Amino acid sequence: MREKYVKSNILSANQNIEHFFGRKDFIVPNNEKVFFLNQVHGDAVVNIDNISSLDSELEGDAILTTKKNLFVGVKTADCVPILLTSRKASFVAAVHSGWRGTYSKIIENVIRKILMKYQCSADDILCSIGPSIGKCCYEVGRSMMTRFDNKFVLSKEDFSTIDGRSFLNLANINKKVINKLGVSNVELLTNCTSCEDSFFSYRRDGSRMNNQISIIKTIR
Ligand SMILES: [Zn+2]
Repeated sequence: MREKYVKSNILSANQNIEHFFGRKDFIVPNNEKVFFLNQVHGDAVVNIDNISSLDSELEGDAILTTKKNLFVGVKTADCVPILLTSRKASFVAAVHSGWRGTYSKIIENVIRKILMKYQCSADDILCSIGPSIGKCCYEVGRSMMTRFDNKFVLSKEDFSTIDGRSFLNLANINKKVINKLGVSNVELLTNCTSCEDSFFSYRRDGSRMNNQISIIKTIR
């Protein structure tokens, strides 16, 4: 039987953290509480280290913390979920990067904050890009393709054009931004949320009602 989640090798190898890229039917083990933001497709990174009451609703699309034993997570259904930590698990981060987040480089904001605030070097950062809509399914208009090309100078892996139709690879564009910041420990999971029925997909399902969750926490 297949698992109700996908695991990243790079994160699984780190004994100091626990993580899950959930499928549709994933349930958090022991019904543990997960801290989520009110996601708004922006580029704001919220550091929750100094927030004592985690019951209040905070807006943003990336969570960063050194809090131990607290799952932080993002909800996606085609958008790109990204989980990060360091070798010593000095922090964990969960990022929601849809096309808007990708375009505004939210992942760059996250990594710059990590490098600044946690005195962690780019070499220490471990990063995993979870299941999202693949280049196989993510068709975009010509003008959007041009916008992305102007900003990122798209390479062969970042897009394709088939019979005049344009397709974008958001996950790969995020990966390039991450690599450019000197972070090379990056794993990209290639599951496509639209191709694989075990994931929710806005595009395929035509609904914004349901999301899968991607979560990470420090365990020691
Ligand atoms: Zn696909």
